[in-house]
Amino acid sequence: MMNVPMIDLKIQHQALKDEIEQAIQGVMERADFALGQDVACFEEEFADFCGTRYAVGVDNGLSALELSLRALGVGPGDEVIVPANTFIATAAAASFAGARPVLVDVDPTTCNIDPKAIEAAITPQTRAIIPVHLYGLPAEMDAIMDLAEEYDLHVVEDACQAHGASYKGQRVGSLGHTGAFSFYPTKNLGGCGDGGIVVTDDEEVAERIRAMRNCGQWEKYYHELAPFNHRLDTLQAAVLRVKLRHIEDWIDARRQHAALYAELLADGGVITPTETPDSTYVYYVYVVRVPQRDELRAWLWEEAGIGTGIHYPVPLHLQPFYADDGYQRGQFPVTEQLCEEILSLPMYPEMTEEQIAYVADRIRDYLG
Ligand SMILES: *Cc1c(COP(=O)(O)O)cnc(C)c1O
Repeated sequence: MMNVPMIDLKIQHQALKDEIEQAIQGVMERADFALGQDVACFEEEFADFCGTRYAVGVDNGLSALELSLRALGVGPGDEVIVPANTFIATAAAASFAGARPVLVDVDPTTCNIDPKAIEAAITPQTRAIIPVHLYGLPAEMDAIMDLAEEYDLHVVEDACQAHGASYKGQRVGSLGHTGAFSFYPTKNLGGCGDGGIVVTDDEEVAERIRAMRNCGQWEKYYHELAPFNHRLDTLQAAVLRVKLRHIEDWIDARRQHAALYAELLADGGVITPTETPDSTYVYYVYVVRVPQRDELRAWLWEEAGIGTGIHYPVPLHLQPFYADDGYQRGQFPVTEQLCEEILSLPMYPEMTEEQIAYVADRIRDYLG
């Protein structure tokens, strides 16, 4: 029996071991541990990568989202529209900024926020939308930016799963007013620990986030803004600079793996992800839909040595943390059905064609 884990971080780190150790050595020698040289260099390189003027490194993706909202002036009394089908951090950022996340349903084909559902949820209190580029597929940004213009709303892209994805030729993060990224180790660009970044073309917003991540100060010991500590660690920035040099190759590899899965799973009893003509899907995870999801998942693990995941099993409106917000089961039928049927297959750049063929064959065996 072959063994195919859902993700394998060891291979990538083994391949980059020398480069990464050298980068870490550099930080050790300079001893510029807090907001050191590698943070500033990485910010410049990541802004370039996204095609934005500014980037501000922070400690994780959740902070990138929360500080974006705060810098845009979103707070108590405001509503922020968020898809129900996402990771908890998208909504939590709005909650922690003091605003109310207003959940809406998603499109059944793309699994991304449905622009029609956004418009239906807009009230006089709405101040922002957080579209998520879920699984690495850009949300429908033209429709979303049109709504933002019409109703005078801020748009914070949750690009935590979509480093390098593009929409109509533009990289995600550069489409909204800010873009938030996570460098959690499993993400398409992941550190050796936590990290995050905000990208934007708005100088004032960038400066506010720069102050807020570092004790609310522009000038040392003069604290004008909320005095948080959300700095990006210099060691992580040094590692991320090394890894950013390889991301285009990793995106290509992910896309090739996805194409092979789609070919081998065609008519195999699962619904494979849909590519849209306007977008480059970067496949943070490869999510198929199958009604017998739980049985298949257990069988793949126990009988075939294949690891899988569910992103995510419980929609946000049914999470205990939001139990007091008045949502009902049945309120977001598309999201609820997705949560029952989605299965994330093994996906990482270093996978082999043999592994992908093995996964596809075992799925066909089980369902056939
Ligand atoms: C990973 C992720 C985040 C948060 O990232 P952290 O760095 O873990 O805080 C936010 N939104 C989405 C959609 C994510 O996948």
